[in-house]
Amino acid sequence: MADASRARLARGLERLDRDGLRRRRRVIDSPQGPTVVENGRTLANFASNDYLGLANHPRLARAATEAIARYGVGAGASPLVAGHTRAHEEAEAAFARFTGLERALLMPSGYAANLGILASFADRHAAVFADRLDHACLVDGALLSRADFHRYPHGDADALARALAASAAEVKVIATDAVFSMDGDVAPLPALLDLAERHDGWLVVDDAHGIGVLGGGRGSLAHFGMASPRILYMATLGKALGGYGAFVAGHPDAIEWLLQRARTYVFSTALPPALAACATEALAIVEEEPARVRALHERIAALRAELGRGGIETASQTAIQPIPVGDPERAVAIARRLHDRGFLVPAIRPPTVPVGTSRLRASLSAGHDEATVIACARAIVEELALDAGR
Ligand SMILES: *Cc1c(COP(=O)(O)O)cnc(C)c1O
Repeated sequence: MADASRARLARGLERLDRDGLRRRRRVIDSPQGPTVVENGRTLANFASNDYLGLANHPRLARAATEAIARYGVGAGASPLVAGHTRAHEEAEAAFARFTGLERALLMPSGYAANLGILASFADRHAAVFADRLDHACLVDGALLSRADFHRYPHGDADALARALAASAAEVKVIATDAVFSMDGDVAPLPALLDLAERHDGWLVVDDAHGIGVLGGGRGSLAHFGMASPRILYMATLGKALGGYGAFVAGHPDAIEWLLQRARTYVFSTALPPALAACATEALAIVEEEPARVRALHERIAALRAELGRGGIETASQTAIQPIPVGDPERAVAIARRLHDRGFLVPAIRPPTVPVGTSRLRASLSAGHDEATVIACARAIVEELALDAGR
């Protein structure tokens, strides 16, 4: 019996190889930054989500070191037992102030936050409505909740309106990426909020790629000038904010409900205090250095302009720039040639994106210099042209 189980795994792995879907990790020997070192080679890094160049910022390193001196390394307990330190308390206050939302809760990760939000706000009598391109953890949260689960076509508020109208669920929860993680486009948040209001529902906004990028760095709600007690706003710390963990912010009652009922909060060890201290420091840097967000947008514009000169138009105005390829093996082959030329631009394949939409995804950072961004765009244009001629 055990052999049959193992044989099934082996066949599954062979299938991944055959379909060009087996993934392998790189081993990086440097901090994240505009460049990374792999096997002794320095590569221009267009693969990380360190949009503001904070992942290796000396102020974050200092905040972490000081917090370790004061609190030690591990939080030692879940937050409701003894793991919630002054550093966590301060980070939550800082995030509420930064976003203008009333209360915030520090969660172990973005993935855990979305599972916790959806499973505590939706139950078997609820319905969750998710954009078809939502991040995996919103989908998993909806499945975990055991609510009725609808997926609406990408960005289509009219289709969502019809699905909401057809649902008799007691509680309706709309869940969306604010900036879609594989396409870089922005969800129609005002229309979604309008629908949440009309249907007495909740709107879960996952701003993993909007915080630090849109709204002068304050995120997607600031970008649209939105506020509502119906919004559960989730932002991660592992991307533009350079650390690890996540916040959920919103109406004090909603946050108190999460604190009491989100199982990924209640039953998980609190975030290490040093990471809470990093979060507070990162928010301070974003507030004090608006030039950082501006630099990011200049790099985004430079990449798009140079790709456009090569005939590649991208719709995204955020740090995520998708370059469509289609076939996963071709996407991997192009990424490999870019790597040979010193540019780390990942190929993104199913199941991360729908079948037939494999792509390169270039991620920009305020830390990039303009010349490297332009060189990368030219290399992408050249390699795509060579590939088309094969
Ligand atoms: C990265 C990401 C997450 C997960 O956040 P982690 O803190 O890395 O667990 C959630 N949602 C989106 C849209 C993401 O891109």
